[in-house]
Amino acid sequence: MKEGVNQGCPLSPIFATLVLHRVLKPLDFKLRQRAADRLARGLPGDDGFGSLAHLFAYMDDISSTVALEDIQFFCEEIERLGTPRGCFVNPFKTRILTSCNGESSLPKLHLSNSPLADTIQRTIATYSITKNSDDTTSPIELVDGFRLLGTPIGSPVFAMKYYNEQLQIVKEATEALNTNITDLHTRLKLFTTCTIHKLPHLLDSDIMHNLPLDFDNENWHNWNGPLTHGIDTIIDHFIKTILDHENNLPTYSTLIAYLNTNKGGLGILNASHKAAPNFVLNMMNCRRRILHGFQINKDITPIHLHISLAELFDNSSNPTSTSLTRYSQLLPHIAPICCPPQCQVDERITLFESNISTHSARSRIKAHCGVVGTAQLYSLMETSAPEHLHLLPSLLSPQTSYPLVGMNRSNVRHRLPNWALSIALRRKLRLPVYDTSNPPICKCGKQHDCWGDHTFQCKQISKKFAHNIIRDCTATALQPALATAGYLRASSKLEIEKKHIRTSDITAQPFDISFDPDPMTDDNIHTPCPYTTIGADITITHSLHTAPPFEFSENAISSLSAVANKHLQKFERRKFMRCNKRDNNSNFIAGDAVIGELIRANMILLPFAIDPHGRWGPILQNFLLLSNNNLDYSFPRHRPNAQIMCSRSITHPCPIGILRTADTYWKTNKPRHFFGNSYSSPTPSIYTIQQLGLGITKAYSTHIRNATRTYTTTNTQRNNSSSGHTAMDSLGTHTPLM
Ligand SMILES: [Zn+2]
Repeated sequence: MKEGVNQGCPLSPIFATLVLHRVLKPLDFKLRQRAADRLARGLPGDDGFGSLAHLFAYMDDISSTVALEDIQFFCEEIERLGTPRGCFVNPFKTRILTSCNGESSLPKLHLSNSPLADTIQRTIATYSITKNSDDTTSPIELVDGFRLLGTPIGSPVFAMKYYNEQLQIVKEATEALNTNITDLHTRLKLFTTCTIHKLPHLLDSDIMHNLPLDFDNENWHNWNGPLTHGIDTIIDHFIKTILDHENNLPTYSTLIAYLNTNKGGLGILNASHKAAPNFVLNMMNCRRRILHGFQINKDITPIHLHISLAELFDNSSNPTSTSLTRYSQLLPHIAPICCPPQCQVDERITLFESNISTHSARSRIKAHCGVVGTAQLYSLMETSAPEHLHLLPSLLSPQTSYPLVGMNRSNVRHRLPNWALSIALRRKLRLPVYDTSNPPICKCGKQHDCWGDHTFQCKQISKKFAHNIIRDCTATALQPALATAGYLRASSKLEIEKKHIRTSDITAQPFDISFDPDPMTDDNIHTPCPYTTIGADITITHSLHTAPPFEFSENAISSLSAVANKHLQKFERRKFMRCNKRDNNSNFIAGDAVIGELIRANMILLPFAIDPHGRWGPILQNFLLLSNNNLDYSFPRHRPNAQIMCSRSITHPCPIGILRTADTYWKTNKPRHFFGNSYSSPTPSIYTIQQLGLGITKAYSTHIRNATRTYTTTNTQRNNSSSGHTAMDSLGTHTPLM
């Protein structure tokens, strides 16, 4: 390559700008001179400076506003300066815009200044043309708007036309995904992270062009303009297609899909929540740059825009601007959200406009929208589907969101087969997993409910297989966090079904998974723990049928979370209250005595209860994250050891809040950038929650699939030698979900 630049080379844009600078600098100088001459001739123009031209270039994309008198000069001069430097004006890509109202201004100009109108007409015919089908060319004069760096500039009608074009492109791309990507998990990931993200950069202009002056500004998150409506329709259609769901989606499912993954949703673009903040933040940044200039580097003096441009962004000098009016409308409602809570109420707007970084403003808005979105979902559920309301705290468990959309897929274990994704996605969105009109009959003789809840409730359906998947995944998932938190050496593993625990119940294996905290090692980080073994007993609960009646009020979310926790607590308590039994020699073994023996052996029993939507019991929450829940467990008098064991399991020095500890150590001493070797799992806590959630998702999809498979398909009865478990397990061996 002797000249020109390589397409795609990171240096290309720099080379391009270096050359363009040589063209634009003298051009700018000459244009200024022309404006100064006009001013000297007593022609102030519409800006009072003789109609200054403003050059705007982003890499090799040059846009400029020039006075009518300068159009011809501009085009000829850029060609004259560019050609010897290897820059050529491409008339098929160059466009000249003369008005925004849909009508050319040239006929009018002909009446007042015919020679000027003629030169403009000639310039257009030379520099702004298109090729016809018969290879001839026609001039193109834009009269409604143009695209500046992908944003529509011009009339609202032009913007609308542009949105529709962009929506159509995304619709077609979505259709292409639907037909070509047969793997549903891949399709979902591509849609949420690529396809739909071709649109959000336009959302601020949706507000800029369309926000009504009498809009209910306080409820900016309910904005529904032409673009947001189009985006919502595409998302709705996509979910229906991926799930083969023929009816309309319930609105609550859509709201769950919009919610961020850390709030238990799918994190699919919520256009209504993004539009107004994007507009206000962009406008704020423009105004800040007007005041302080463009600071490229702290050692270089900021570059200030010309006063005639700066005045356009000032209400007092530009009182008729609808964009500024819309900004002032929304500002009092958005600025306070972007400020830190300790900031004085009456100082928030000033602080927002002068000081708050875009980054922290965005993260505060994101958090705010998470709260708003969750509240919207609860109140919608309360009115439109009250029968599911009590399940919301479980449905919105982030751990069952990450495996669907938030995990790095270059790891094969993170990929879900179609049947598993389909079940897990339906469960997350509370859509039926079975045919609503005719759900299958369960082996117990009852008919399944269409949601799959019965599979967790029925005594005839073993949860053993699901339990074992969770057990094995949990053992693997917890190890890196426990090592980072200083409880284990990097090489120590968790043990599955630890044997030879000496209790009077010799058949008892009280721990599904366990670890023996390592004594002081060479590792830098050590968290002392006086117990010899920390063991967990995993239990899968059934769903709560209905919530106890309560007043739907401001506290609905916390009340319902408390109800969900209480339900899980029941199952945790049972693990501390082991049944009394007799051994093979008919010797009586008191359940509480066995717990006492574990206490004397200096061991800890942690009951890990997990509900059918993946919500963790309070003890597991506390073990991982130090919950703020009221950990109130009381046991009958004749169960003194249960009481002691329970108190030990939820307090220091038992490992609690291990993910917080791991995060703290990780942040002080990062051996690599991302804990999970992916930007999607940067910290020990996110990584571990994702891995635990993955195990739960795989286990439950398998469980729900097998619940009807073992009964309806006859060939699973081939292995009918012994108990029901065997049929289940034999099915399980075909399952690749480990
Ligand atoms: Zn049943």
